[in-house]
Amino acid sequence: PLDPEVSGMTLTFAPSLPARPTRPVGADPLGVLGVPGQINLDYAASAPCARAAADAVAELLPWYASVHRGAGALSRRCTLAYERARQTVGDFVGARAGDHVIFTRNTTDALNLLARALPAGTTVVTFAGEHHANLLPWPRGSVRLPVPESPAGAVRALDAALGELRRDARPGLPVLVAVTGASNVTGERWPVAELARVARRHAARIVVDAAQLAPHAPVDLTALDVDYLALSGHKLYAPFGAGVLVGRSDWLDAAPPYLAGGGATGHVGAATHDVRWATGPARHEAGTPNLLGAVALAAVCAALGGADRDALHAREQRLLARLRTGLAALPHVVELRTFAPDAPRVGIVSFVVAGRNSAEVAAHLAGAHQIGVRDGLFCAHPLARRLLTEAAARSGRRDLPQTALRASIGLGSTVAEVDRLVAALAELG
Ligand code: PLP
Repeated sequence: PLDPEVSGMTLTFAPSLPARPTRPVGADPLGVLGVPGQINLDYAASAPCARAAADAVAELLPWYASVHRGAGALSRRCTLAYERARQTVGDFVGARAGDHVIFTRNTTDALNLLARALPAGTTVVTFAGEHHANLLPWPRGSVRLPVPESPAGAVRALDAALGELRRDARPGLPVLVAVTGASNVTGERWPVAELARVARRHAARIVVDAAQLAPHAPVDLTALDVDYLALSGHKLYAPFGAGVLVGRSDWLDAAPPYLAGGGATGHVGAATHDVRWATGPARHEAGTPNLLGAVALAAVCAALGGADRDALHAREQRLLARLRTGLAALPHVVELRTFAPDAPRVGIVSFVVAGRNSAEVAAHLAGAHQIGVRDGLFCAHPLARRLLTEAAARSGRRDLPQTALRASIGLGSTVAEVDRLVAALAELG
């Protein structure tokens, strides 16, 4: 029997699902897998698997052997597949020659790795609107700027903060700016290129948390002039367990290895401290790597890289507009947002239903309508709380709940699914 308490979430219903998902949804070029009868509007948590990723895994499974650890033909084939995957993912995010592409478990892992690789005395500057993965890993003494009211406000605030740091507070010490590409709460896009320009002007580096941006829009390190980027495969239509940190090699090669162990060493002697660590990605990838995860992620990167992303983006924006227009027409639904309503965003909308507990609404949508959304504060507590307060003030309603709902769409989403959600919410008015 299932333990009813899973990560603090009580399972209130046991859905009966078909044994084998098929692919009924959309005409998307990645062939995103779907489960008949289930409407998945929770892409921002974990996107469904793309056919390209499933095929890549199925193809490699019979060849399965160790990576970088064997001389046999299978092992060599797997090592080659792993290194090709590294190249493909690096190309997908516009890595520069000399950048490292380090496979991690996910974005959280990637940002923690970078946090451990910071030179002594580095100050990290973030905004309070970040996902916890981009708020919590940073060292003591980090600067957390308030959530700005507009993208231009974010640029101004960063400029002022970096100016102050360089002039007065910590002159000469390294500074890293850590910002999201798109908010996991509101879907709003952050002005990454402008923030990178400001960072550069103040001789600071910048890391972009691309967990939510990369599934929806091209992200190019070189074009954006960004130093580091982190993303998760499971939000990019690949299975769980593989992500990347991509970026400048100097700090990474100088830092102690993220994990100590086999594969990260050049030489290990008899004395306890007689160790020479490897440089390059291997330094931070100790232990047998997740070959299948890396290959699946690379397969999606290759498929997306070859797709008409403008067309995909336009389609998603049409669906998003339909969803937001539908929600805006419901007087009992209030959207959460940081910036102006027309600020650019990816396919994510958070909202509340006045007078209704969000967890109960989510359970109702799942149980009565087979619609999967997320509820809570979305691992971005400071931002979500602030936006809930702001939504109450903006709407003038005193009956808004303390947590929110989030619907998020992607390549497999359809007009019918969006309309079903809006219709189900309309019934709650
Ligand atoms: N950053 C953002 C913007 C996210 O939305 C998420 C996940 O929701 C993360 C980081 C963390 O991703 P992961 O849980 O895959 O490490």
